[in-house]
Amino acid sequence: MSNQTTPPDRSHGRKSVTLSAAPRDLMSGPQRLARAWRVQVITLMPQAFPGILGESLTGRALQDGLWELETHDLREHGIGKHRNVDDTPAGGGAGMVLRADVMGAAIEAAQASAAPGSPLIYLSPRGRRFDQQMARDLAAGPGMTLICGRFEGLDERVIAHYGAIEVSLGDFVLTGGDIAAQAMIDAALRLRPGILGNEASAVEESHSSGLLEHPQYTRPAEWQGRVIPDVLTSGNHGAIAKWRQAEAERITQERRPDMWQRYEAARKRPGE
Ligand code: SAH
Repeated sequence: MSNQTTPPDRSHGRKSVTLSAAPRDLMSGPQRLARAWRVQVITLMPQAFPGILGESLTGRALQDGLWELETHDLREHGIGKHRNVDDTPAGGGAGMVLRADVMGAAIEAAQASAAPGSPLIYLSPRGRRFDQQMARDLAAGPGMTLICGRFEGLDERVIAHYGAIEVSLGDFVLTGGDIAAQAMIDAALRLRPGILGNEASAVEESHSSGLLEHPQYTRPAEWQGRVIPDVLTSGNHGAIAKWRQAEAERITQERRPDMWQRYEAARKRPGE
């Protein structure tokens, strides 16, 4: 943008960080910083964060400083008066592509405030499919830096240059990476200590044991003529555990033959 009349904005290209939710005093102090899981998000929509993550258990944990979220507004690194972040695809075709130089500056800013050792992840439908194991690995680490794409996605060179890991939420295409980022953060966060009220609920649920979860029931004892299976109200904990295991196996076998096959194979090789 050569015919720019206003002086260049001093913040152009500089690190732009928005600290969400938790007041400063909650986030200082060595103990809290050591415990906090740190997430950096590069996005064109910083106002969409923490979004749903600001609610309920994850919201309370954010307030309590168990995790920290910094959004980096890609627009702040845009070019010229209009802060352009995208341009037409080389070789032609539909849509717009996020510029490597603009995204590069945002990545540098985000990495500068990321916890050391945080993986750099680009949310992308071409990526490895996100799953519970990935959530566990991320939860065990110091945090992560997430790049939310828009339009047709990123210039390939910026992915290569920073060695960003491409991760997909599933085999479908979203308009932007922001919803995928929030889903990934949520899945990893709930595996961190102190986030869920009841730690055991993350141990027994779907995908943690290689099986889908057994059916759940609560009051009333009878609803629309349907009753709760007798065993669950018997008070016999051994029988209840057995029933739940059998139901988890039945449901997994019926719905997810792929998971069932892996589960059976692992059972035949104990200790693995
Ligand atoms: N042209 C791209 C799709 C771009 S969709 C392609 O065909 O591969 C725009 C942005 O939405 C992407 O840059 C990515 O960040 C995000 N996105 C879309 N689908 C996604 C998915 N399944 N998982 C994670 N992010 C996704």
